[in-house]
Amino acid sequence: MNTPAAQVPGIHEDYDVLVLGCGEGGKFAAWSLARAGQRVAVIERKYIGGSCPNIACLPSKNVIHSAKVASLLGRGEEFGVMTSDPVIDMSAVRERKRKMVTGLVEMHLKNFETSGTELIFGSGQFVEPKVIQVTSADGSIRLLRGKKIIISTGSRARVEPLPGMVEAAPLTHIELLELDTVPEHLVVLGGGFVGLELAQAMRRFGSRVTIIDRNPRLAPSEDEDVSAALQQLCADEGIPLVLKSVVTRVEGRSGDAVKLTVTNGSTEDLQQGTHLLVASGRLPNTSGIGLDLAGVEVTERGHIQVNERLETTAPDVFAVGDCAGSPHFTHIAFDDFRIVRDNILGGNRVTTHRQLPFCLFTDPEFARVGLSETEAKKEGVAYRKATVPMAAALRTRTLSETRGFMKVLVAADSDRILGITVFGVGAGEIMAVVQVAILAGLPYTVLRDAVFVHPTLPEGLIPLFTAIPPLGTSK
Ligand SMILES: Cc1cc2nc3c(=O)[nH]c(=O)nc-3n(C[C@H](O)[C@H](O)[C@H](O)COP(=O)(O)OP(=O)(O)OC[C@H]3O[C@@H](n4cnc5c(N)ncnc54)[C@H](O)[C@@H]3O)c2cc1C
Repeated sequence: MNTPAAQVPGIHEDYDVLVLGCGEGGKFAAWSLARAGQRVAVIERKYIGGSCPNIACLPSKNVIHSAKVASLLGRGEEFGVMTSDPVIDMSAVRERKRKMVTGLVEMHLKNFETSGTELIFGSGQFVEPKVIQVTSADGSIRLLRGKKIIISTGSRARVEPLPGMVEAAPLTHIELLELDTVPEHLVVLGGGFVGLELAQAMRRFGSRVTIIDRNPRLAPSEDEDVSAALQQLCADEGIPLVLKSVVTRVEGRSGDAVKLTVTNGSTEDLQQGTHLLVASGRLPNTSGIGLDLAGVEVTERGHIQVNERLETTAPDVFAVGDCAGSPHFTHIAFDDFRIVRDNILGGNRVTTHRQLPFCLFTDPEFARVGLSETEAKKEGVAYRKATVPMAAALRTRTLSETRGFMKVLVAADSDRILGITVFGVGAGEIMAVVQVAILAGLPYTVLRDAVFVHPTLPEGLIPLFTAIPPLGTSK
């Protein structure tokens, strides 16, 4: 329970809009509402710009790119570029990443300055409806009252409450991206987006890597061909997968030696390594911030309860991004911003039926927008399907990156594109081309008959869409 409202002393400072947490949705809302003439403040305890530029998307993709360079150097001979034993210097990898983050933070500060948004450093918590108390690092306290409030507090890595887990001091993505040495043997708990991306990167820097996951296959909600492709990728990279397995106990300390007891229901096994990375889910940052005092209810899973306008159960209080249970992607948190901004400015914008494109940044990438086969079958949507190997896009052959496939679903009774799945080089970019066609309601024949530059990756969409079976044939 939090401090009751009546006991909170002090003078309230008044704002039109207060944003709690400098996450993606919150910061963009703040800047644009301030530019529209409102008095706006953002309360942030640590990361100027939130997770994405500091500790999540962009730093991870930066480090992943260094790992790609390491991989290419390892394949030097194949390209006719002879390199003598490349050496990985993780402090230089980290330095490149840190430099990027510094630049991003500067960019954010500029936006605060030019938009006239006040950035208040400190930890915020509601003390009564629409009033947030901010405690700074030096212990000083401010009481802020907002006519409107946007909660944008994000999420954090879930550390499973297992015996020995806390004592093992496992790495989360935050510490892993700050390593200045390559772990000798990294055990990754969780084969989701974060686990897979970072596992592959560390493997390419020379670490032994093992992934443990409770599911029987990677990407269990995706089509089986996607799971098989990801599993083959791990096998080829030398990353053993311990699937359908649950960790029951952890011994040792990450950075030194860790021993995990793992069970698959019938048998028990031990997995050992030098470092442990937890990547087995996210928890919303919604506890201890006085939501009960603000009249803001949370769901069973701890996310802030919102409607399709991203309004919480308290009047004039909105929630965006991971804390609101929106799909955990920066581009979705950004779209949440547009919804809340428009609703605050008197419009009516909703989350209903928005597209949910996503990309897993392994090498190669896996990206999808629209329906997968699994979803189409579940929803009873009849479809026509075409699948071609990535090698059908001749560009992949020039790059020696022919791994993977493209798969598209088209309606059985019309030429409407239902969804595209790409596992291959440039998957995110290829997907975006088809995404635009879906947004525009274009029939698939427009892409099939388009003139794309040769040799580019989108050119591969021509053989893909040409392979669609004629109308009247469906699955
Ligand atoms: C390793 C990793 C890689 C990822 N890669 C991608 C990717 O490639 N593409 C993608 O789309 N998504 C990616 N994601 C997901 C993406 O980072 C999140 O979905 C996104 O950052 C969520 O943004 P948000 O605005 O909800 O919260 P956040 O960006 O987490 O912001 C919340 C902010 O609130 C602050 N805060 C919390 N509580 C308080 C408080 N009480 N007082 C003051 N401040 C507070 C926090 O310090 C934080 O800065 C990745 C995530 C991880 C972990």
